[in-house]
Amino acid sequence: MFTFSKYLLASSLEEAYDMLVKNKNNAILGGTAYIKMGNRRLSTAIDLSALDLSFIKEEGENIEIGAMTTFRDIETSDILKKKFSGIVACSVEDIVGVQLRNVVTAGATVFSKYGFSDFIPALLALDTSVVLFNAGEMPLDKFLESDIKQDILVKILIKNKPAKGSFQTIRKSNSDYAVLNVVAANLVDGIRIAVGARPGKAVLAAKAMEKINTDGLTEDNIEDICQVASEELTFGDNMRASGKYRKAVCKVMLKRALMEVM
Ligand SMILES: Cc1cc2nc3c(=O)[nH]c(=O)nc-3n(C[C@H](O)[C@H](O)[C@H](O)COP(=O)(O)OP(=O)(O)OC[C@H]3O[C@@H](n4cnc5c(N)ncnc54)[C@H](O)[C@@H]3O)c2cc1C
Repeated sequence: MFTFSKYLLASSLEEAYDMLVKNKNNAILGGTAYIKMGNRRLSTAIDLSALDLSFIKEEGENIEIGAMTTFRDIETSDILKKKFSGIVACSVEDIVGVQLRNVVTAGATVFSKYGFSDFIPALLALDTSVVLFNAGEMPLDKFLESDIKQDILVKILIKNKPAKGSFQTIRKSNSDYAVLNVVAANLVDGIRIAVGARPGKAVLAAKAMEKINTDGLTEDNIEDICQVASEELTFGDNMRASGKYRKAVCKVMLKRALMEVM
């Protein structure tokens, strides 16, 4: 259980950010499902729920997802079910149960860069950026590599262009964390491949993507491409699977994903 001494219902992002950086024990509240599992003693808990950050909308060239949007909103969104073969909606639909998905938020998940996340690899396989209050807009892959510790994730932007996607996941049982997530997306400007739950945080398979984009993707070279991806990425051990198993299964999952998006 976490505790806090003070509570701030922020009336603006400026007010929330000023309070956040005042003390390293201050924290933003998302749905609090994850924070609750630890024993953090917060000084000020900062609530963003009055800032209208719960939305999924088509805006200009992007689909925008606000930081306080819940996974249940994402899973049931007509926009996200129709776009990108539904991979963004589908990435969250197996997470624990509806009660949890009704509270957990997109902003907290992406800002926390959880290695086990199902949502992050789906976003990473698309052309996605994040908007941070202080650091501004940046591509999701750059944000995941960054060491930004104190900021507010305001919204997620997915380029609203045609894409065929495939989300592949392995779980030992329903509601457990994934053993591995592999996502491929065929965008107008090339194929992107993201792998998460390695168990480290999600990354792009850059060499495999480069190979596809120079040699093309055919039934003859698909196995080679899957081999390149499994060689370039690192896989670790945890209680769910060994790195060796993840590396082997990555090839199979990627082949299925690529065949679906070809
Ligand atoms: C029991 C359980 C099982 C789960 N299983 C899975 C699973 O199988 N797959 C999966 O993908 N996920 C899983 N999750 C994670 C879940 O999907 C969310 O990613 C997680 O709970 C964080 O969302 P939240 O809204 O609860 O964040 P919170 O607990 O509110 O916050 C988490 C962290 O993010 C910070 N934060 C919150 N909002 C922002 C913001 N806008 N900007 C910056 N920082 C912010 C908080 O200060 C805190 O440090 C599980 C979570 C739980 C509790």
